[in-house]
Amino acid sequence: MLKIENLHVSYGGISALRGVNMTIEDNKIVTLIGANGAGKSSTLRAIMNLVKKEGTITQDGEDISAMKTMDIVKRGIALVPEGRKVFANLTVEENLILGAYTRTDKAAILKEMNNIYELFPRLKERLWQKAGTLSGGEQQMLAVGRAMMLKPKVLMMDEPSLGLAPLLVKDIFAIIKEIHRQGNTILLVEQNAKKALEIADYAYVLETGSLVLEGTGAELLVHERVKAAYLGEA
Ligand code: ATP
Repeated sequence: MLKIENLHVSYGGISALRGVNMTIEDNKIVTLIGANGAGKSSTLRAIMNLVKKEGTITQDGEDISAMKTMDIVKRGIALVPEGRKVFANLTVEENLILGAYTRTDKAAILKEMNNIYELFPRLKERLWQKAGTLSGGEQQMLAVGRAMMLKPKVLMMDEPSLGLAPLLVKDIFAIIKEIHRQGNTILLVEQNAKKALEIADYAYVLETGSLVLEGTGAELLVHERVKAAYLGEA
């Protein structure tokens, strides 16, 4: 279980997160929704210790707040950052192999690669292609695949559906469900609130740096405030 307590982040004196508390239970899909600039990415970056923060983050009771990002990754927490950050000059296969940099068991790594090819047949077709020449959607899939190569306990994804064509959006949410079914805990940041809430066990709504609502995905899908602000159903 990942627990975030009283998380504050500010950039040059401007406050981006003001006392956020969240619990991400094992084997759940938890989603964090909110408008542009609400602080969603900052939350994920704070968990990875990529930004200066105040507050406490614990994993299974152990304080990881001050750990180096690399050590947090080694503890099984992985982030797929927003914006398809793949290594453009490396091939698809090289990107995936690099994803496994914390692991040494070759057989297990190969097994995971095969699992990824099953989830993303498009990547399998393009193993030798330079990642920078993949389409946007394919790069997004590669970014998710690369994070999976770490075999993380907790996979955090920052707007995986951003900029994808509707059919691919459907695919990516189906894939997130499948990754979850394989035993991963998922923390999903999304602007596509409807799709995110539909697959979420639990969800939080962030507005200008503070959580304003939380509940099961099903509860928030029918909540008036969520419907009006995030589902376009005033
Ligand atoms: P989006 O959906 O647009 O990606 P978000 O909810 O993920 O937004 P954040 O990226 O966490 O929001 O940003 C929260 C606030 O902090 C915004 O006002 C943003 O401009 C600001 N911010 C984020 N990173 C920095 C930075 N490195 N320096 C200064 N301000 C920043």
